[in-house]
Amino acid sequence: ASAASLALTLTACGQNSEGGSEEDKGGAEGATVGIAMPTKSSERWIADGANVEKELKSKGYETKLVYGEDDPDQQVSQIENMITQGVDALIIAAIDNKSLGNVLQQAKDADIPVISYDRLILGTENVDYYASFDNEKVGELQGSYIVDKLGLKAGKKGPFNIELFAGSNDDNNTKYFFSGAMKALKPYMDDGRLVVRSEQTDLNQVTTLRWDGGTAQKRMDDLLTSSYRSARVDAVLSPYDGISIGILSALKSDGYGSGDKSMPVVTGQDAEVASVKSIIAGQQTQTVYKDLRELAKVASNMVDAVLNDKEPEVNDTKSYDNGAKVVPAYLLQPVSVDKSNYEKILVEGGYYTADDLK
Ligand code: BGC
Repeated sequence: ASAASLALTLTACGQNSEGGSEEDKGGAEGATVGIAMPTKSSERWIADGANVEKELKSKGYETKLVYGEDDPDQQVSQIENMITQGVDALIIAAIDNKSLGNVLQQAKDADIPVISYDRLILGTENVDYYASFDNEKVGELQGSYIVDKLGLKAGKKGPFNIELFAGSNDDNNTKYFFSGAMKALKPYMDDGRLVVRSEQTDLNQVTTLRWDGGTAQKRMDDLLTSSYRSARVDAVLSPYDGISIGILSALKSDGYGSGDKSMPVVTGQDAEVASVKSIIAGQQTQTVYKDLRELAKVASNMVDAVLNDKEPEVNDTKSYDNGAKVVPAYLLQPVSVDKSNYEKILVEGGYYTADDLK
């Protein structure tokens, strides 16, 4: 091997060609960033991994990208491995936000900065920055969409029947999504214009472990059997497109969406292709779009700043207390999407091509 290619190989291994142990952390270019994503079972996280790698590579970084298959233990050992391999920074979208305390202490001991990606990591000081969306706003967009669509804002009296679904209880975002939605829905539940026939209205009664669509489908089946034999569901609050797909399957099996039994209003999140197609086909009603290209930029800029001893740009320094500290955050804005605006937002916005949605 030529000296140049040998030097390259050694640098990639985290050593310099003089065989010394000094790393190029200060200069940052050529440093390696470890990226831990939660699962490949949902499109959004596949896009996140690809977007973050692309952004970092364009800034001259090496990357290591791993997926934890929704298994918290696996994610912990993946992060441990990356620390052992000598990554210079970590970007982590947690599976279980409370299970990373020990491994992040190892990161701290090795002087590796940590960016919490999309989901806030809880209970440890060893999280430097948080890159996410305004999560409370996501829920508000879902809740107020239902209120609007049922005509409640315009003065309709109902009463309308609604059932509530929330995300995984080990994801810190879940409570923000739910409380945002409840802010919009609760006044109408209180005055009787919205009725939850199952009476399952507390967050801990309506969560969906690991955001699993099959689990949601089963719960919707049970709700239809227990509470809707002599009534119809008018709306379902769903926090995420994969959960909406499960809910819609249960509704379809019960005859909704055919004859005079129209589909209830069903919300979602992430604007995943299958759900946008479902919206176009008149099944799912709404989703909340979060531009993941922007999130990848924010997280990559944070890493780049930290590795160059600069202060990353943040726009929120008070909302996200993780129990050990308030984590400085940059929050992006989510957008409500339905049949009336998907072309403008998603296609004209360059997120999908018209062909992707055929
Ligand atoms: C993310 C959502 C996503 C959900 C399920 C949440 O933490 O913020 O965008 O729908 O996880 O993957």
